[in-house]
Amino acid sequence: MAKKENKFREYDISTQAVHTGTDYDEGTGAVRRPLHMANSYKLPDDLSQVNYSSTDLLMYARNGNPNQHWLEEKIAALYGADDAIVLASGVGALHALFWTLLKSGDHVVYPNVSYMAVYRMFHELFNKKFNVDTVMADMTDLEAVKKAITPETRLVHIETPDNPTVGITDIEAIAKIAHENGALLSVDNTFASPLNQHPLELGADFVVDALTKFINGHGDAQGGAILSNNLETMDRIRYEAQVNVGSVISPFNAWQIFRGSVTFPLRMQRINDSSQKIAEWLEQRENITFVSYPGLPSNPGHELAKRQMKNGYGGVISFGINTDDKTVERFCAKLKVVTFAVSLGHDESLIFPQPSYDERIDLYPEKFRNGFIRFSVGLEEPGDIISDLDQALRAVGL
Ligand SMILES: *Cc1c(COP(=O)(O)O)cnc(C)c1O
Repeated sequence: MAKKENKFREYDISTQAVHTGTDYDEGTGAVRRPLHMANSYKLPDDLSQVNYSSTDLLMYARNGNPNQHWLEEKIAALYGADDAIVLASGVGALHALFWTLLKSGDHVVYPNVSYMAVYRMFHELFNKKFNVDTVMADMTDLEAVKKAITPETRLVHIETPDNPTVGITDIEAIAKIAHENGALLSVDNTFASPLNQHPLELGADFVVDALTKFINGHGDAQGGAILSNNLETMDRIRYEAQVNVGSVISPFNAWQIFRGSVTFPLRMQRINDSSQKIAEWLEQRENITFVSYPGLPSNPGHELAKRQMKNGYGGVISFGINTDDKTVERFCAKLKVVTFAVSLGHDESLIFPQPSYDERIDLYPEKFRNGFIRFSVGLEEPGDIISDLDQALRAVGL
């Protein structure tokens, strides 16, 4: 149980992204730390004190590996957090947190709009398998959140901006409600990223970030992080979920994400700026039924986002086109610069339709129920992205 080392704490996030977690390699003097693919490490001569579920000793790759630890130093620095745990995926991180915090009989309040796996975990897995009482709430309605809370509420979980509607939730207000009722608050910060939002400073107890997305940023490695200043609970997560459930990150993926994270602040600023331009263009384009992006003054979450976000409003825009599911697919297939694939936060722009037959469509605000598309802005020239969207709309007669 120790705070992550950060010799660059007083510097700007871009300086920390370059320097934190790296050092000269002992032995060779190389200016990059190596990739350690070993499964196991030399044991001490006296085994009587070894705890095989501990993460303190380098012993076996699932108990922790150097590349994981160096990436944890970097991610903790990006978030200004005392501790970080890096696991195999964003969902692995969410599960590790929920699994450690919750037991049968506990109550959870989760958002009506959330990442698909969070919906699955609370809508049909934790409740039906483990008797955890779960209730969905509209997190933009503070009175509804208060009403959803019971004396058994252990955890309130939110996402802001949320996936896939890009709605904004008031972190500080929900933290206050949770804490007044003896509950903890976890925030999925993947869409905002640490360049734009620091939930721990706004009162959250835990943050989850899918490193697969903006922090790695190159669409070629999966990982997820949990951030917190609660060192004792973080060690419980290591012991209960990392070592004994096992979704530790592979050293190679940790190494790959570490490399991606160096340029994260630079890439994210570009993505913020391009997204703002593209959202503004979409808003005035005919046949676009709505644009959900918190950087637009017309957005219902804009004033709140201005308060709790900085540097920009992230890289995901949701919008609607005035047509049916089939034409939406044809539009996506006509794009030349933008890639038609799931995921977000890559170097390339990604587009993903949210069809009207999605089982959760009725949970979303009304305007999202027809022609709804999630768009993740990449690093291409924003003018090229706009021209591509425009030509593909015209190609399907819109
Ligand atoms: C992608 C995503 C996750 C899950 O991350 P994986 O690495 O795919 O498991 C969690 N939350 C949000 C908001 C995401 O976009």
